[in-house]
Amino acid sequence: MKNQDLVEYLRSCGVCEICQLRYLKARGAEYRNINETLQKLDVKLNECVETEQLVVSAENQPAKRARMGVCSTCLGLFSNDFQNELLSSILASDFAKYDCQKIVLAICLPMSLQLRQLAMWFALRRRFGAPIDESNPPDVPIKEAVKLILHPIICEKLDKGYDANGLMINIDLTHNLEDEEVEKLVKLNKEAFPAKASHQKRIEISRGLLEKQYQPSKVKAETFEKYFQIPCSNVEESIKLTSIDLQGPLVCVAGRYRKLSRELSHTPWILNGKRLMEESIEEIIIRHVGPHFTEKLGKITFMSSGREDVDVRCLGKGRPFVLEIPNAIRSCLSKEEALAMERAVDASGMVSIHNLQVVPREELTHIKTGEEQKKKFYRALCALQEPVSVKIVEQLQISKSFDIQQKTPIRVLHRRPLHTRPRTIYSVNARVQRGNPKALIIDIVTQAGTYIKELVHGEFGRTTPSLSSIIGKPIDIQALDVVGIDLDWPNEVDNSLQEE
Ligand SMILES: [Zn+2]
Repeated sequence: MKNQDLVEYLRSCGVCEICQLRYLKARGAEYRNINETLQKLDVKLNECVETEQLVVSAENQPAKRARMGVCSTCLGLFSNDFQNELLSSILASDFAKYDCQKIVLAICLPMSLQLRQLAMWFALRRRFGAPIDESNPPDVPIKEAVKLILHPIICEKLDKGYDANGLMINIDLTHNLEDEEVEKLVKLNKEAFPAKASHQKRIEISRGLLEKQYQPSKVKAETFEKYFQIPCSNVEESIKLTSIDLQGPLVCVAGRYRKLSRELSHTPWILNGKRLMEESIEEIIIRHVGPHFTEKLGKITFMSSGREDVDVRCLGKGRPFVLEIPNAIRSCLSKEEALAMERAVDASGMVSIHNLQVVPREELTHIKTGEEQKKKFYRALCALQEPVSVKIVEQLQISKSFDIQQKTPIRVLHRRPLHTRPRTIYSVNARVQRGNPKALIIDIVTQAGTYIKELVHGEFGRTTPSLSSIIGKPIDIQALDVVGIDLDWPNEVDNSLQEE
């Protein structure tokens, strides 16, 4: 089979030059200069057709309409007209709202296109026989060709790079023959795969199935031909754009927060339909960081490595957190912008954040897993009913780890099931508070998930042993701070050190 014969046959079937190159298995840049590639492949140029050039640098001059009409295999997908329509539709969408350097096209092609590739496959086998394999497509498949041809052109014209995680431009295409042809396809499917079709109530033919099952090795040409023409019929109308939908990337912004207030909940605190506190850590952070990335603050997910009670502060280096922001309009955050956000949150006086940065999505595993294994560092202010004795201080110097059994505290039973959990206490270190002989400051290192208040007072024996049972006297916990969280993530960045 000579290239010349193949191309002449394709021309006679109304196949466009780009598709001719697909059948010549051209690669990447070979689609840029059609004539040069055809000549390289020993194909004489077709003088009776004014060639439709796919030259990226071409100004938006009125596209030269090819005299041959709509390509019977790509339905005009690779024509200049379609490219121009696609570009102007993208520019007319919310595209300008997105401040993203990278894009990715997700094109939903009508099934008619796939059926036409198959019709041409049958036609080529009839015409050229054995050189056309029955299970390997004779062309560069449309989906791949879209990546090779349309992607680079659209990226270049929009002046954007390509990245699978960039701004996703979802493009829906249709063709006026689509409904009619899908109907025929359902009938063909029953005939070609009777066994499968018989136990399917509703026949759903997906693009994936079409790709896998519909090959000359699996469907007879004679069966196919009862429903579709071989080679495919010429069409009047080209493919149509039905919608363009933009989907910005999922951006993850991480940092560490310090909770400075004993009257601040982690997330909005609503009890019996009534809001209990005006503010929450989640809301304060989202309010100041979110608008840079999205208009829809309600879509942002706030996650942190554990949490503290309303009346517990979190000090030291703070607690790692991350915001998951879907459909973001931008994915960058300069140090200057990050610093301004940190300062705005700090101005709340209730929460302070630092190390604010955009992190790769994969790093979220740090915050989502291993929670149970982490160590937590606390400082508790406790009161005894009597002055603290030397013996009590000594009893509360524990450097060797020990296990406790802890029943779910009564105060959280309304939202957590009743269990008895073993927890490890790594160390306890108490000292008398200066100026207050009945008060103890106790540093405690525990396994994550330990209820500290109950560890201190024992909750009527629901936690054993407890610090109270160890000294044999009641202890009341008056204030609690988290002073450290055993997670070295995200990286430390000082946003006040501005780049040059
Ligand atoms: Zn074509």
